[in-house]
Amino acid sequence: MSREPNDPIEDLVRRQLEALGEDPARDGLRRTPGRVAKALRFLTQGYGQDPLDLLNDALFDVSYDEMVLVKDIDFFSLCEHHMLPFFGRAHVAYIPNGKIVGLSKIPRLVEMFSRRLQVQERLTTEIAEILESVLRPKGVGVVVEAIHLCMKMRGVEQQNAFAVTSSMRGEFSTDSKTRSEFIELIRQRKESFA
Ligand SMILES: [Zn+2]
Repeated sequence: MSREPNDPIEDLVRRQLEALGEDPARDGLRRTPGRVAKALRFLTQGYGQDPLDLLNDALFDVSYDEMVLVKDIDFFSLCEHHMLPFFGRAHVAYIPNGKIVGLSKIPRLVEMFSRRLQVQERLTTEIAEILESVLRPKGVGVVVEAIHLCMKMRGVEQQNAFAVTSSMRGEFSTDSKTRSEFIELIRQRKESFA
């Protein structure tokens, strides 16, 4: 009946549906375990990806030493406490110290860490830590802004709750001018570049 009858996640979802009082055999639910398993594997595929491989593949020696910023990176993750989505935007900046990484790798890095069961605080720190260890930059700043469906949907009555986390390292931590420049650049609307 199902393509992968022995898929353990499919089996679990079928049992979960039963435990919730549903009939997994009814028409609308017959293929649900397969879809859920596929979706869950996609949403957690970051476990099978190594951020070091990603970054080491695109390092360049460059003498540019001003701030590099990639902002408004959309991400979607699952909170590890409820396995419900949290999602929003990440802003990632660093000041090179002889090495830069291809710009397109930064959104990929955010994606890699967000497609795992996460807490927003750890997601923020992991992005900063890996950039710090691979690039050895003068500083790294990461700000993550997110909405958590476990807060919005579960009757916590925090419909507008929006969580902001940050990790500031090197000059982003020691130099308030660098930090303010970073925050200022994040706040600028996209239209200002048009
Ligand atoms: Zn949660």
